[in-house]
Amino acid sequence: AIPVQEDKDEDLLPRAPIVTVMGHVDHGKTSLLDRIRNADVIAGEAGGITQHIGAYSVTLENGKRITFLDTPGHEAFTAMRARGAQVTDIAIIIVAADDDVMPQTKEAIAHAQAAGVPMIFAINKVDKPTANPDKIREQLSQMNILVEEWGGKYQCQEISAKQGLYIDELLEKVLLEAELLDLKANPNKNAVGTVIESSLDKGRGYVTNMLVEAGTLKIGDIILAGRYAGRVRAMHNEHGKNLKEAGPAVPVSILGINGAPSAGDKFYIMDDEREARSIATKREQLYREQGLRTQKH
Ligand code: GDP
Repeated sequence: AIPVQEDKDEDLLPRAPIVTVMGHVDHGKTSLLDRIRNADVIAGEAGGITQHIGAYSVTLENGKRITFLDTPGHEAFTAMRARGAQVTDIAIIIVAADDDVMPQTKEAIAHAQAAGVPMIFAINKVDKPTANPDKIREQLSQMNILVEEWGGKYQCQEISAKQGLYIDELLEKVLLEAELLDLKANPNKNAVGTVIESSLDKGRGYVTNMLVEAGTLKIGDIILAGRYAGRVRAMHNEHGKNLKEAGPAVPVSILGINGAPSAGDKFYIMDDEREARSIATKREQLYREQGLRTQKH
């Protein structure tokens, strides 16, 4: 069986918030995520090559850390939710000020609301002469979403992702929201977390990008992830830096799992490799049987 380690209150330490950016296509998600990535004060020091591992952490000038899921669109968010995984603490809903609250914006809002994830609104492209942020506020209010500056409860920030305007202000609002959530995790136990994405690399074998949610993941750990198992052979972060261990809210890319688990699969650390493999095999069998059954009907 998968060992569950209960936490005592005194074991819980503050952890970084995990944030997802959602919004309509072309409203600026990628531009914003790129901007924020460049705000990282330790990225330069690391000197490594930036790699896409499905998420990244930024350390701000005030020393605070925020982790962003950077899988574009809200597909990852939805896929993870479909598997019962809830990794996001805060959603940034981005809306272009020269456009409208669009169907995908509404979908993103509905997803965040259904998941009970607090939202912060980023009204983007305010550098454009045709930008009309008040129109966006108005359209949001028609959905019963009242922003703070209109007396409501939702934090909202005008930004220009392209020109890098008011990004710090937006991140401050994320930190404020995170403070209210009082996010904590126990770093001193076996790691648990969620798979963000995985793939087969010709040279390196299966590469699994995941987010540690609690505990500390270490090289050599016996890991069970969805229908697959293995041992953590190597681990690196989004700067390509090799890691020996990774604590709560740290995104990592690892080698050593014997297959490609799905986005949203949970991972656990086991004591016994044979048991990990046996659970993985049973899950794989069940998965195939269910697959066959759904094909028949
Ligand atoms: P995504 O589809 O939501 O990821 O949107 P992108 O980040 O790819 O942006 C779509 C387009 O809008 C690109 O051509 C960006 O250069 C442009 N864009 C994004 N943010 C801004 C902004 O703040 N101002 C202006 N003028 N253009 C922007």
